[in-house]
Amino acid sequence: MDEFSIDQVLAEVAVLVKPHFGKGRPADYIPQLATVPGSKFGMAVCTLDGGEHVIGDADEPFSVQSITKVFALGLALNRFGDEVWTRVGKEPSGTPFNHLSQLEAEGGVPRNPFINAGALAITDHLLETVRDPAALVRGFAGFLADAPVQIDEAVAASELAHAHQNRAIAHLMRGRGTISHDPEAVVAAYCRQCALTMSCRQLARALLPLAAGGFSPVIQETIFPERLTRRLNALLLTCGIYDSVGSFAYRVGLPAKSGVGGGIVAVVPGKAVICVWSPELDRFGTSVVGTAALEAFSQLTNCSVL
Ligand code: GLN
Repeated sequence: MDEFSIDQVLAEVAVLVKPHFGKGRPADYIPQLATVPGSKFGMAVCTLDGGEHVIGDADEPFSVQSITKVFALGLALNRFGDEVWTRVGKEPSGTPFNHLSQLEAEGGVPRNPFINAGALAITDHLLETVRDPAALVRGFAGFLADAPVQIDEAVAASELAHAHQNRAIAHLMRGRGTISHDPEAVVAAYCRQCALTMSCRQLARALLPLAAGGFSPVIQETIFPERLTRRLNALLLTCGIYDSVGSFAYRVGLPAKSGVGGGIVAVVPGKAVICVWSPELDRFGTSVVGTAALEAFSQLTNCSVL
């Protein structure tokens, strides 16, 4: 993965993914997301030595959605330490990200912090120390990206108006005592957090500490202890792509997090963070072109951790 070849590899990847457009569909259960053209494609690679390589729409902000769960979890673990694990597990769920019956069967304790139930539990936990967890996540992401980033209030309102499943999850957890705040307030904060907008370049910059033992080469500060960084990557590898995490690991071989805005962030420990964006999703809610792009990139550069 030297500096010259990354630009060449990105150019090659952009050609290789062309046949994959039109195979998926943008998320439409959040109506505002369905308005984004499926033809968008951007990719950014930020390396530990400060290199930034981009192609396509890599500087266009998009809806970060579930990738914000990485920032929220990092904040919660930094604040509360292992207490987080008394409310949420560390196991892959094998079920869709907004699944309800597994949660009910397991006493209202979410399998992991990346499915919606787990992320709602993290939001509830953050509400113990801040009034506005979405603003906290936005501030943290912007701080790490070294750029101002915004919440798209139209996307937040659009999701909140249709958030029946997330409301059901939050109310179930309130009933079982997993969360302690008003479920409506937890869901509203969660939807605003998910409506954060960032570009591929900004996301790759912001999550670069995950490839650098917790240190941010962008802002020259330690963000996470080294051991916590390894653990965050373990959770990404096992739970970051929900119920298709196995086939994603088989194809790409990198810890990663997807979002229904079409973004995927992948970590190459010791080397780089890659962010790809393309809005058409597979049935698991992961970008079709984005997965193909990461598969091609990891094969061409041999950067898989597996
Ligand atoms: N806000 C979305 C939801 O709760 C996030 C899902 C995702 O990106 N996988 O459904």
